[in-house]
Amino acid sequence: MKRISILGATGSIGQSTLDLIRRDRSAYTVVALTGGRNIAQLARDATEFQAEIAVTAHDDLLDDLRAALRGTGIKAAAGATALNEAGARPADWVMSAIVGAAGLPPGLAALQQGATLALANKETLVAAGPLVLETAARHGARILPVDSEHSAIFQALVGEDIDAVRRVIITASGGAFRDWPDEDLARATPAQAATHPNWAMGQRITIDSASMFNKALEVIEAREFFGLEPDQIEVLVHPESLVHALVGFCDGGLMAHVGPHDMRHAIGYALNWPARKALPVDALDLAAVGQLNFRSPDPARYPALRLARAVMQQRGLSGAAFNAAKERALDHFIAGRIGFLAMSDVVEEVLNRLSAQTGLIDAEITLDRVLHVDHLSRDCADTVVQEQT
Ligand code: NDP
Ligand code: MG
Repeated sequence: MKRISILGATGSIGQSTLDLIRRDRSAYTVVALTGGRNIAQLARDATEFQAEIAVTAHDDLLDDLRAALRGTGIKAAAGATALNEAGARPADWVMSAIVGAAGLPPGLAALQQGATLALANKETLVAAGPLVLETAARHGARILPVDSEHSAIFQALVGEDIDAVRRVIITASGGAFRDWPDEDLARATPAQAATHPNWAMGQRITIDSASMFNKALEVIEAREFFGLEPDQIEVLVHPESLVHALVGFCDGGLMAHVGPHDMRHAIGYALNWPARKALPVDALDLAAVGQLNFRSPDPARYPALRLARAVMQQRGLSGAAFNAAKERALDHFIAGRIGFLAMSDVVEEVLNRLSAQTGLIDAEITLDRVLHVDHLSRDCADTVVQEQT
């Protein structure tokens, strides 16, 4: 029996992971499930899957969780330390599906105990790529990509030599505003940004898809995970979202990964790896699809992609600053304090201000420094927003 834990079990990726576990129940022992505010879901899943422990990120919800689990024999815990302990509980396979930089410490804890980390939380590699990879190597732990583009690249590389790779192309749907004229973007609302043309995902990543911050994070994630040079990673807008990524080799060949909009493919690939097993994913009818379209993203429309290039050049702790500033700018947009286009202005200003502080961004990456820069970056984003409004 494979012992598995799910960090962020109550979210979109977490629920899809549990769906796969449910279909092959006898193959798994569920160790830890973690959630945030959705205590009812967390308790329901912990009970159904007979988890050893259920953890909410929020201390103030511990009593609610305890009450919901009363009589089940399942342990309840809350808070940041408990989340790390959930990651550290002995397990073979840990799904990292918390949203945001909050997913970094428990994911590192999972790597430190040598578990295979199925990585949906892209913020982990953006904020602390070298530290995460070095931790995995030191503890003999493996990281498997779950982000669909990175899973696609990973699959296209099976049996290939990484030195034969010339380029990778990551596709972007264009998000909710793909077909909106530029002049309407300034007035776009959070509710409009949170609808995705192709994928059903959590609210935050859906808005990040509309702003291209999601793709910006993914470019950095690809650089870290596959050890590529920034100029080897390209982005194409592909409205159908069926080709998730392409790998270009030195002989001119391009290997494309094509699949339906169902994250259970990438999750299941990581769950069953190195085997490839049947998954409850519909077969694609390409004749019905008819055509696949690709175009270059307009750099003026998507400053997030330019900022990602700057972060990759700067390295050090700029990924941590970039991600945290983006998270705060997104909070302010969701709260209605800034407009859709202001998010990238805020992030750029935060990067400029933090880069001006000698020795801050170009220091060696440690978890403490990542958390420190994350904190400074969020505070700085708040200041920038206050100054603008
Ligand atoms: P959701 O918002 O649906 O779920 C997020 C999960 O994290 C929930 O379990 C939530 O708990 C929990 N959570 C929220 N805030 C915190 C916190 N501060 N500390 C601890 N836990 C917290 O997100 P998604 O499932 O969409 O995304 C999860 C991750 O996977 C993200 O990094 C995203 O970028 C990545 N990803 C997602 C894809 C998708 O298709 N959804 C595709 C590729 C990558 P609760 O809901 O109980 O409050
Ligand atoms: Mg993705």
